[in-house]
Amino acid sequence: MRVSEKAGRFTESVIREMTRLAIKHDAVNLAQGFPDFPAPEEIKEAACRAIREDCNQYAITWGAESLRVALAAKMRRFYGLDVDPERQICVTCGATEAMFSAILAIVDPGEEVIVFEPYYENYGPDAILSGAIPRFVTLREPDWSFDPQELAAAFNDRTRAIIVNTPHNPTGKVFSQQELAIVADLCRKWDVIALTDEIYEHMVYEGEHLSLASFPGMEDRTVTISGLSKSYSVTGWRVGWTIASPALTDGIRKVHDFVSVGAPAPLQEAGAVALAQPDDYYTRLTAAYRERRDLFLPLLEATGFRCFPPRGAYYVVTDISGFGSTDDAAFARWLVTEVGLASVPGSSFYHRPEDGRQRIRFSFCKKPETLRAAGDRLARMRSSGLRPPGSRGS
Ligand code: PLP
Repeated sequence: MRVSEKAGRFTESVIREMTRLAIKHDAVNLAQGFPDFPAPEEIKEAACRAIREDCNQYAITWGAESLRVALAAKMRRFYGLDVDPERQICVTCGATEAMFSAILAIVDPGEEVIVFEPYYENYGPDAILSGAIPRFVTLREPDWSFDPQELAAAFNDRTRAIIVNTPHNPTGKVFSQQELAIVADLCRKWDVIALTDEIYEHMVYEGEHLSLASFPGMEDRTVTISGLSKSYSVTGWRVGWTIASPALTDGIRKVHDFVSVGAPAPLQEAGAVALAQPDDYYTRLTAAYRERRDLFLPLLEATGFRCFPPRGAYYVVTDISGFGSTDDAAFARWLVTEVGLASVPGSSFYHRPEDGRQRIRFSFCKKPETLRAAGDRLARMRSSGLRPPGSRGS
């Protein structure tokens, strides 16, 4: 039986496929970006309390008031932004739905959306499903900077939006003040909306996280997207949000209502408790992730993976050319089945798969013992002489 032309134009998420292979082969799963450690006790307790107190029916479609008020307070506290919780917030089923609903609400079929590449794999299907045409701008190794002229050349009369993901998945890039100022200038010049995916806002190891909405003239032309998943280690709760001008929020709320009706009501109540965590919660979160990064990268390097050290988020892109391997997917499949370590093939982050053929992404949002277990498997790979497919001598 045939599926729609749109659904036929993209494949199943490679990341989730790798997770399934990891389970099948009892591998250490450094593919999908979810923590393997417990969520904070206080937040879990708030969720249980909300359920016990019978907060079990639909919340207001655009979000429980308590969460919207807590979010407005957090935006003031961290970014100095004044957000009206009544008119500028739409709570969604994760940042995933936030981005999808925002694109559907803002971009007409045939209009262009600029995407920095490599990119989080969801943006591709988001564009296809909404009928938008993606225009890719390359982030260049080793520091994942972009060429301002290439970016400027990507803007034209058909450009409706640009997606900016900072801190960035998969590279760990944290967009600088200067870079965001260039993006902001171009958005103003071409009357373009910025869709900023800031889901890793609290995971910055070098530099600082800057919100594009706080740049001059950007407040009304930015949709700021984030969620509970990463900052509070609850990726399964599916609570995210958009913050935008009242006019854009009206459109996003309408789409969201028909896409998902609303995010889980009791988890929104717990979200309000999460967002009110004191500053030292975030300081500890960042420090713990920095430690994981500093533990894991040397283990990769010692095995022959060349790392591009991330400045934020919790992934590392590695270069596998030292193994002589030219097929990232075969390499990742071999790594999970033979070595017992799940990763994500680099080609899933590029619109031309060949651009990622010698890249593999690992996530390090795991307990230190999980990362050490990954290190043990890498050490066994080294000492046993196991050879990846396509490598010299295999
Ligand atoms: N945006 C980026 C850049 C991500 O890496 C991820 C998850 O890996 C998401 C969004 C998903 O966020 P959520 O769980 O809130 O849907």
